[in-house]
Amino acid sequence: MIFDDIKKFIFPSRCVLCDKILPYGSKLENLFLCEDCKYNFEFIKEPTCKKCGAMINDSEKMYCLRCEHKLHDNFEFGFGLLRYNDFVKESLHRIKYGGRKEYIDFYGKCIARTYKDKIREINPDYLVPVPIHHRRLIERNYNQAAVLANSISKELKKYGIDIGVNEELIFRVKNTKVLNKLDDQDRGSELKEAFETTDLSNIDSILIVDDIYTTGTTIDTMAKILKIAGVKKVYFVAIAIVDNL
Ligand SMILES: [Zn+2]
Ligand SMILES: [Zn+2]
Repeated sequence: MIFDDIKKFIFPSRCVLCDKILPYGSKLENLFLCEDCKYNFEFIKEPTCKKCGAMINDSEKMYCLRCEHKLHDNFEFGFGLLRYNDFVKESLHRIKYGGRKEYIDFYGKCIARTYKDKIREINPDYLVPVPIHHRRLIERNYNQAAVLANSISKELKKYGIDIGVNEELIFRVKNTKVLNKLDDQDRGSELKEAFETTDLSNIDSILIVDDIYTTGTTIDTMAKILKIAGVKKVYFVAIAIVDNL
């Protein structure tokens, strides 16, 4: 316990959304959210898009505007924890570039607790983080999607669900250009060159893990490559999904 106290003194708990240090010994410390940010933490609620899991505002509709416009057909469906807002944007940015790896464990636990039944139902063979190129891995020290997948897997075990993380199924073989500078079609072709797999015909289903779902091109391209390699079903889970109400 003393070690825990010392650790907390050196690495105090911070609010995952605004990075404010949470008062030592307070209840907030265990919630990982400060008083001000409680309302900025927007869980995705029904109705949601049947494809990408984004929130929609019409329960009569099947899909969000983004999926209506371009229905990705390589993955089955996906789901996420939070609506993407400015606070989540900052939080995910600090995870990637500000060394705030510690937030990820909180998000992983939330995902596992919220979606344990859905994940049990899908029953994937593996959780597969979206890979990053090894050069980026050296720059950032960790792949946030891999850390997230491991924390989801660890938390699921507490509910008797044993699904391992597999980072050896698909690789990034080429560093992609800055994707948002490319149009949608270029994004697809640029990404296709960037993933490599081996024969995966013995794998039934995979749950891809990523921090954010934006246009869906990365996940869809990855799903396509996994299916060509023999995987039968591909799903995804993300911390945040950009909605398009
Ligand atoms: Zn906060
Ligand atoms: Zn959608």
